[in-house]
Amino acid sequence: MAVQQNKVSKSRRNNRRAHDALVAGNPNECTNCGELKRPHHVCPSCGHYADREVVALADEIDLDEDAA
Ligand SMILES: [Zn+2]
Repeated sequence: MAVQQNKVSKSRRNNRRAHDALVAGNPNECTNCGELKRPHHVCPSCGHYADREVVALADEIDLDEDAA
């Protein structure tokens, strides 16, 4: 097991952790539905990316299409 050679002081430990804070996301508004979405990602609420639909939502797909 590795054993540290020197005690890390509270000051040195806290100074190291000064840069560990989480930063908030930077959401954009979807140009189609106006919902907030992550930049450069498909909109999770309408499935659009760059003004066109690229992912069909589950409730829009007819699952009984070839049930016959
Ligand atoms: Zn959208």
